[in-house]
Formats: sequence, structure tokens, C-alpha cells
Amino acid sequence: MTQTQQTQQTDIIVYGSLNMDFVAYVERLPQTGETISTRTLHLIPGGKAANQAVAASRLGSKVTMVGRVGDDDLGAKMKGFLEVDKVDHQYVSLTAGSETGLSLIPVDRAGQNTIITHLGANALLTKQDVDQSGPALKRANIAIVQMEMEQEVGEYIIASAHQHQVKVILNLAPVVPIRLETLQTVDLLVVNETEASQLVNAGVDSIQTSMDAAEKLFDMGINNVVITLGDKGAVLKTHTSLVHYASPIVQAIDTTAAGDCFVGATAHFWTRDRDLESAIQKAIQVAALSVTRIGAQSSLPTMEEYLAFLS
Ligand code: ATP
Repeated sequence: MTQTQQTQQTDIIVYGSLNMDFVAYVERLPQTGETISTRTLHLIPGGKAANQAVAASRLGSKVTMVGRVGDDDLGAKMKGFLEVDKVDHQYVSLTAGSETGLSLIPVDRAGQNTIITHLGANALLTKQDVDQSGPALKRANIAIVQMEMEQEVGEYIIASAHQHQVKVILNLAPVVPIRLETLQTVDLLVVNETEASQLVNAGVDSIQTSMDAAEKLFDMGINNVVITLGDKGAVLKTHTSLVHYASPIVQAIDTTAAGDCFVGATAHFWTRDRDLESAIQKAIQVAALSVTRIGAQSSLPTMEEYLAFLS
């Protein structure tokens, strides 16, 4: 059975970006005008939406992805990676005349990097693409959206999901000037400390300031708010509680895609167990495991690996 059959089950539908990361390990980062050679070059599939889709799928959810890649070798590769991870990619369109999104990431011996990102076909996602994914959207329990796309399209996705009574997780990354009325329709807002501080216009860099920011966002009429705090875990504000959940202590090697892992895992456990608080606690554990491994999608745990981590 090929995964492109129209009747595929969908628990979670993820809209947004697919990127190929070209990670080049170098002695030191090049200075202006300088050429540096790399002995090790890794092509690692990434992109916030693709990472989130793969994270949820590896844990066992049926996931459909909606996005755009270029009509090029990288685009075919990106779809191939989704296929391997059992993510339904029938709504990931090949876009003639555009390149697949990519990031150029030199990493020096100390692990420091610089990143150049090319949105490419990701920027060309349209409202028509969203309409075409309607059959999968209607079947889904949760829609996930981030903002590596035209803001108008992102808002349209939120409105479409709301219309079909599908829960929306908005990972507002990057932060864009989205209307408050739109934010008030999402079921869960997930942001990291930097994004939270942009939203509330105040410093957010500790558990206490994150709790204050979550409370402030909730008071603006946003239903449920999560602020992720890296190795400090995450804060959750709901209608009934304001809680900080600590992260397990791990040997962090590479935090790339930790936030995406968290979002995908939250969607998986929220869909499966229907309990947001326990979903957040489990997502913190899954994301902690992901930072012990290198890369974006390469770091995302399967359910078996997560269960082994707990035992
Ligand atoms: P990134 O941009 O690196 O993908 P982010 O800034 O969006 O991440 P973070 O708040 O850094 O998101 O991390 C998301 C979640 O990943 C955290 O809530 C936590 O559960 C887990 N995490 C991240 N870094 C660590 C760490 N060093 N140790 C344990 N868990 C971590």
C-alpha cells in the first residue's frame, strides 16, 4: 500500500516548511572574503513543519504534511524522507521554477554556527494548497502551523481548521504581527523564551518571567499557552492552572529541532490521551531525549526509544 492513497487516516495535519540543511563541519567559521574547506558535509532534512510532522509520526501518529518543495532533486529527497517516516506527503507539491528551501550551516569545532536560510518554495504555499488539503484537514484531530510562510496563508490555515472544528497548535515562530482575534481562536500557542519576550514586550529568561508572560498572554484571551525554556523545561498556562514542568537532566549534544520535537510530541500525546497537561510533560521528556542526538530529523525519537529512555 503506498502512502499517497487518498484515504489515508490523519490524526495530525502539519502545514509549513521543509528545508534541507547543509551542515558543514569546519575548523573555524570563515571571515569576510575567506574560503574554508570542509571534510565533513551532512545533508540533514529539516524545516520546522517537516520536523514536527516526523516527530509526531515517529511516536505513532498518522500525520499528513502540507507544504511546497522545488521541482528539483532536493524536493524529491525531502518527499522521500517523509515517505520513510510514514508521513503522508500527497499535499507536498513540487513547485516549478522554485528551489526547495535550504539552510547553509557551517559549524566550527566549538559547535558555534551561522545559518543562511533560503525559504524557496516554502514561501509559495497558497490558500489554494490549504483548500486542497481540506479532506485531510476534516479528518484530523489537530492542525499544526508555524509562520515560515506568508502570514496571510498562516491565518487562513488557522481559520480553516477552526471552521472544521479541528484543534490548532500555533507555533508562532518566527513571531509575526498576527491579529489578536486570530490568536484567540487557536487552542494552544507554543513559543520559546525569545518569541514570548517579543510577544509581551518584556524580558523572558527565567521560570518566573515565563510564568508572568504566559499569564499575560492568557489574559489577552489566548486559550492555552506554552513557553518552552530549553533545559529548564516549559511553562503551561490553561484555564485551570499555571504550571512549570522541569526537564529531565540530559547530556545535551545538539539542540537543533528540540522545539519542533516538543511541538510534534505535544500534538501526538494530546491527540492520543486527550490530556494537555500530561501531553506537555511527555513532550518535555521526548524533546530532552532529542537533544542528546545530532541533527534535526535525525535526532527525533521513536516511541520505542522514548520508552527505553524512561525505563
Ligand atoms: P530549537 O530552536 O533549538 O529547536 P526552541 O528554542 O524552539 O528550540 P527550546 O525551549 O530550546 O525550544 O527547547 C524545547 C524543549 O526541548 C524544551 O522545553 C525542553 O523540553 C527540551 N530541551 C531543549 N534543550 C534542552 C536541554 N539542554 N536539556 C533538556 N531538554 C532540553
